[in-house]
This record gives sequence, structure tokens and C-alpha cells, in this order.
Amino acid sequence: MGSLFNMPLESLKGVGAARVRLFAKLGVKSVGELIRFYPRTYEDWSSPCSISEAQDRDVCCIRARIERALPPARIRGGMTLYKIIAYDDSGTITITFFNQKYVYEKLRGGGEYLFYGTVRAAGFFYEMTSPMVSTVDKAQIRPVYPQTAGLSSRQTEDAVRQALRLLPEKMKDPIPEYIREKYGLCSLERAIREIHFPGDVQALEKARERLSFEELLVLQLGLARLKGGRQEYTAHRIRNDCSREFVSRLPYKLTDAQSRAIDECIRDMMTSGSPMNRLIQGDVGSGKTAVAAAVCYTAVKNGLQCAFMVPTEILARQHFEALSALLEDTGIRMQLLTGSVSASKKKSIKEQLSSGEADLVIGTHALISDNVSFSRLGLVITDEQHRFGVSQRSALISKGESPHIMVMSATPIPRTLALMVFGDLDLSVLDELPPGRQKVDTYLIDSAKRVRAFGFLKKQILKGNQCYIVCPLVEQNEQSELQSAEEYIEKLRNTPLGDCRTGLLHGRMKADQKEEVMRSFSEGEIDLLVSTTVIEVGVNVPNATVMMIENAERFGLSQLHQLRGRVGRGSDKAYCILVSDNQGDTTKQRLSVMCRTNDGFLIADEDLRLRGPGDFFGSRQSGLPEMKIVGMSSMEMLEDTQEAARDILEKDPLLSDPEHRSLRGEVGRLFARTGGAQLQ
Ligand code: ADP
Ligand code: MG
Repeated sequence: MGSLFNMPLESLKGVGAARVRLFAKLGVKSVGELIRFYPRTYEDWSSPCSISEAQDRDVCCIRARIERALPPARIRGGMTLYKIIAYDDSGTITITFFNQKYVYEKLRGGGEYLFYGTVRAAGFFYEMTSPMVSTVDKAQIRPVYPQTAGLSSRQTEDAVRQALRLLPEKMKDPIPEYIREKYGLCSLERAIREIHFPGDVQALEKARERLSFEELLVLQLGLARLKGGRQEYTAHRIRNDCSREFVSRLPYKLTDAQSRAIDECIRDMMTSGSPMNRLIQGDVGSGKTAVAAAVCYTAVKNGLQCAFMVPTEILARQHFEALSALLEDTGIRMQLLTGSVSASKKKSIKEQLSSGEADLVIGTHALISDNVSFSRLGLVITDEQHRFGVSQRSALISKGESPHIMVMSATPIPRTLALMVFGDLDLSVLDELPPGRQKVDTYLIDSAKRVRAFGFLKKQILKGNQCYIVCPLVEQNEQSELQSAEEYIEKLRNTPLGDCRTGLLHGRMKADQKEEVMRSFSEGEIDLLVSTTVIEVGVNVPNATVMMIENAERFGLSQLHQLRGRVGRGSDKAYCILVSDNQGDTTKQRLSVMCRTNDGFLIADEDLRLRGPGDFFGSRQSGLPEMKIVGMSSMEMLEDTQEAARDILEKDPLLSDPEHRSLRGEVGRLFARTGGAQLQ
């Protein structure tokens, strides 16, 4: 198999330079990759239904004999209409084609055929328009491949058929036999043949299962090795658990989840010889700041310096204020370091960090600039994980000597998926909100009710509250994004919101321009914030009470939940209004989840169930290798693959045994594709 990845596609018959370019567009550059280019879906021609069984609008395959052909009829637009009457034991169906003379000519000769298409059924009348037609010997499950203009699924199918003939007789299987046996998996060769051209539905299921297992296993192995690479000795083992002191100073009682997370962090720093490497995951408002403060407090009291990095200036300031309040009178010396701090102040802060005079610094990217150094950096915290690339995190980490690491994320991710995405981190979950939180009432409306909704926002603003409107995310084109936001504000002019103080955030603004708008919103100089980009995560404007989201169907549920989390942070009742004209059942079902619950973890589970892990974050944010086949059904398999990965690594940590060697090759290939994560 390995050598097929070096075999150019041109070696296949009928594949020339032009088609090679089209395949490249689909990410297929070698025969090996073509073999691993799996169908997007299938057409089931293998079990035709009878005519009378067909339901209106069903997509199905019907096997019928030709009864007669009606004479062609010319219709408007210079088109010709061809009708064929066909029958089976249960009934009669009219097959209609436009302009497809050659099909008509073939069918009018009589005989039995398979027709695949959408059925219209009304009473005893059945019709199919422009179905695909095939001879009865093609009663198979057929693959449908991802397509691009100029390259049809059928053409890909031909190329795949040829490629499969090149598969070696005895193919090397990356999954060692002892694992295949334990989990009842079929061989790679079998799986590959069946995923392209399944004999029947069960065989397809088996093939899918085997390939998903392999994909997850390879991922698990890769992540385990990433994690293993960081298990170095820590110079910052702490001796005293001072968190009780800190907790007793708090004006409230910690939730059980908060206490548990703090304990887990402290245990990491006290007992294991290697640095803490932990993700704290908690829904908006679950109280992550207090957890971070308790951990910082403990670290500082044990003689360590802490650095706390957040993605934006405004968040840095908010965190600085929150932590200052929590750590007041503790003797902990805190500093705020951001791009906008004056040069002389910066110089003094840097001196205090390198001399060890300052214990805790909160800041933006400014923290990772070259000339910031620490005397004994022992704990690095980053908030809102998704905003930092791995490289930025490691730049800060490298300023200490294997410091403890804590990553905080407000995106609730189902536990199984979190293990997949953050396989290199241990996980603490804050799955509980402090008591007395209010629910954000959420409504789904269509654009006919938009003006009424504007009236509602206006009332809130007149009461002295503030509102957000997130408006359509337009295609990548930045110019059009700008226009759409400006157009939107233009349109607001003739609505109840026309005379409000309105601010605009869009993708073309520079970071400092965005910060300026956010600042004036958070200081109440603006009533209404219209945004085309996703509003800064974590920003806290307690006075904001309405979040209105246009084209809500374009967002993932978890993203909507994040957006909704911008409101309901103060004592006033808060609302979320989702606007969508998409009437599809799945869309409605998806969006109605938002109206039913405020629980981020439930929403994340539902999102995962409805969209599958591939789409969960949008591939860009997850930093995960792109998965080819793993669908939702595979989530249950995750635990099996984790167990298998552990077994394998226990036997052979470097995957150097002959029976693991091709698995090692697959791990390398998967991570090479992403370019992001590098294996040690
Ligand atoms: P997030 O997890 O979104 O970062 P924060 O740390 O900002 O949440 O906390 C949200 C609010 O909840 C803050 O005002 C904080 O003071 C308050 N809070 C945190 N923990 C508790 C608790 N155990 N009981 C009551 N209020 C709490
Ligand atoms: Mg926070």
C-alpha cells in the first residue's frame, strides 16, 4: 500500500493531465490517496422497491418493464418531452425525460431496467422525472464520490475500480492482528474494497466500522505521543496546598465543580513529578476565574511566578480587575501588561518580572514578546483556548522551565470529543453553575417578525440596557462583508432602532479598532452593537440584555450558545432572538434546542449528534487532523480505540515492532496532512 502513495494518478487509464488537476482539487494526488478517497454517500440500487410501495418524494430505485413509449412532444423553450410507461407486479409508472433522446431510444426497445430517482405519487399515479437508468445486472450499492466541476462521480468510480486492481495480493494491514481480533474488525483490504463497492449493507457497515476504528486509533496514537513528549520532570513541584486559605476569603461558596477542579490542579502540581497540563472546561459563567485565582494564589505562595494570557486587551483588563478583587490584601504583586501600556510602564513591569518582584502578570500577546523574561515562571494560564495557536502557547511556556500549564476554555465540548481534541491535556470540567443564575429566554422567529423584534430591542434600550445584533456572515469576501454590515446599519435607519447609538464591528477592522468599539460598548457609550464577526469571547458587559442573531441557521449550536452567553450577565432579565427563514426540519430541530435549554454541555452533545465531530468546530478551530470517515456513529468507538492505543503503546511505545510499523506510517501521514501538530 505504501508504494501506491508514490504512484502518480497518470498511471491509470483515462487519467490525463487535466483530470489529474481535477483530482488534485479534491485533495487526491496519488493512487494511494485515491484508494483512500471514500464515497460521500451511496445509491442503493441493490434492493429496488415496488412501484406501489414508493411514497411521494421518495428517492428510490424501481425495477420495471417497459410497456410502451409515448410519441415525443415538443414543449416550450425548444425542449422535447419523452415519456415512457413502465410496470412491475404492483403497478404502473410514467418515466419522463427532457431532451434525453438517446435514453428514450434505448428504452423504447422494451425490456427491464432499473430507475433511480425521485418519485411523485398521487393516488394510483406514479411518476419519475429524469431518473438515472441502468440495466438490471447493475443492481448494486453504488458509490457517490465528492465531485468537482468537470469530474463526475462516475469518472472517479472508474478510476477507483482500476486503482483497486493494483492493490497487492497480500496487503499489509496497519492494525495488528491481535487488535483486529479483539474488536472483531475486518481486514484493511476487505474494508477498502467494500467501502467503494459494497456487496450489501452489512458489508458496508463492517467496512465503515473498520476504517473509522483505524482513523481514530491513528489519531489516539498520535495524540498520546504528543502528550508523552511533554512528560518531562518539573522543577516547580509545590509543597503546600494553600487553596483553603484562599477559598475562605471568597464572598461566596464554591460550587462542587469548582472545588474539584482546584483540587485536581493542586494535586497535579504537588504530587506528579511532571508539570501540570490541564484543560479547565466550563460553560460561560461557571466561575473559571475563581478557579484560576485559587491556583495562582497557591502557586505564588509556593514561590512561583504566574503568567496569565488572554486574547484581547479588553479581556486582559477585565481579568486584571477580577483577579485584583479576588487577590486583594494577599500580598500578591500583580501587573497588567498589554500593547497599550506606555513604554516606560512596560519597561518597569518587565524589570519586575525578570527580577521576580512581580508575582503574577496578566496580559495579551505582549507577554510573549522577545524581551519579556521571568525569574521563576512556574505557572502559565491561557484563557479562551481557541484563540491561541499551539505555537503561541508554547512561546509563553518556553519562558519558564517546564512550567505548569492550565488552559481554560468556555466552549463546552462533549467529554468524548474533548479527549480527542485535547488528547494532550488532562481535563477538569465545571459542569455546574453557581446558584441563582437566570436563564436567557430564547426565541426563534422568521424575518417577517424582524421589525417587531427591533421594537423589542428598542424598549430594552429605552430602559437603559444594551443590545447586540450579529448579522449575516457573508462569504469569505471581505469587501462584501463590510458592505453587508454597512447595509444592515443603513436598513436599521428606517426602523425603531434608527435613532440608537450604534456601533459596528466587522472582519476588516484592525484589532485596535475592534477593541475601541468594544470598549465604548462596555462603557455604555453605544446602545447597540452590530457585528458581522463573532463578538469577542468572554467579554463581560452585564448591562447587555438582548442578543439577536440573523441567519442563525449558519451557526453551529455551540457557537450560538457562546454568542448567547454574552447576555444574561447582570441582574436584568436577558433574551436571545434567533432569526432564520430556513424552514427545513433539521434546521428547525437544531435551533429549537437553543430555545429549550441553556445547558452548554447538553447543547454540545446535541450539536455533535446532529452534525458529527467533523463539523463540530469547523475544521479550522479544532486544530485536529481532518477525519475522512469518522461519523457520529463512531463516537462510541472512541473508548475502544483509546484502550487499543494504550495497549499498543504499552507493548511498543515507539511503534517500532514490525507489526506496528505501518501503523506508525499512518500516524505520520495523518499528522503530516494537518501541518499543525508535529510528532516528536
Ligand atoms: P467564567 O467561567 O465565564 O469565566 P466567571 O469566572 O467570570 O465565569 O464568573 C462569573 C461570575 O460568577 C462572576 O461574577 C463571579 O464572581 C461569580 N461566581 C463565580 N463563582 C461563584 C460561586 N461559586 N458562587 C457565586 N458566584 C460565583
Ligand atoms: Mg471567563
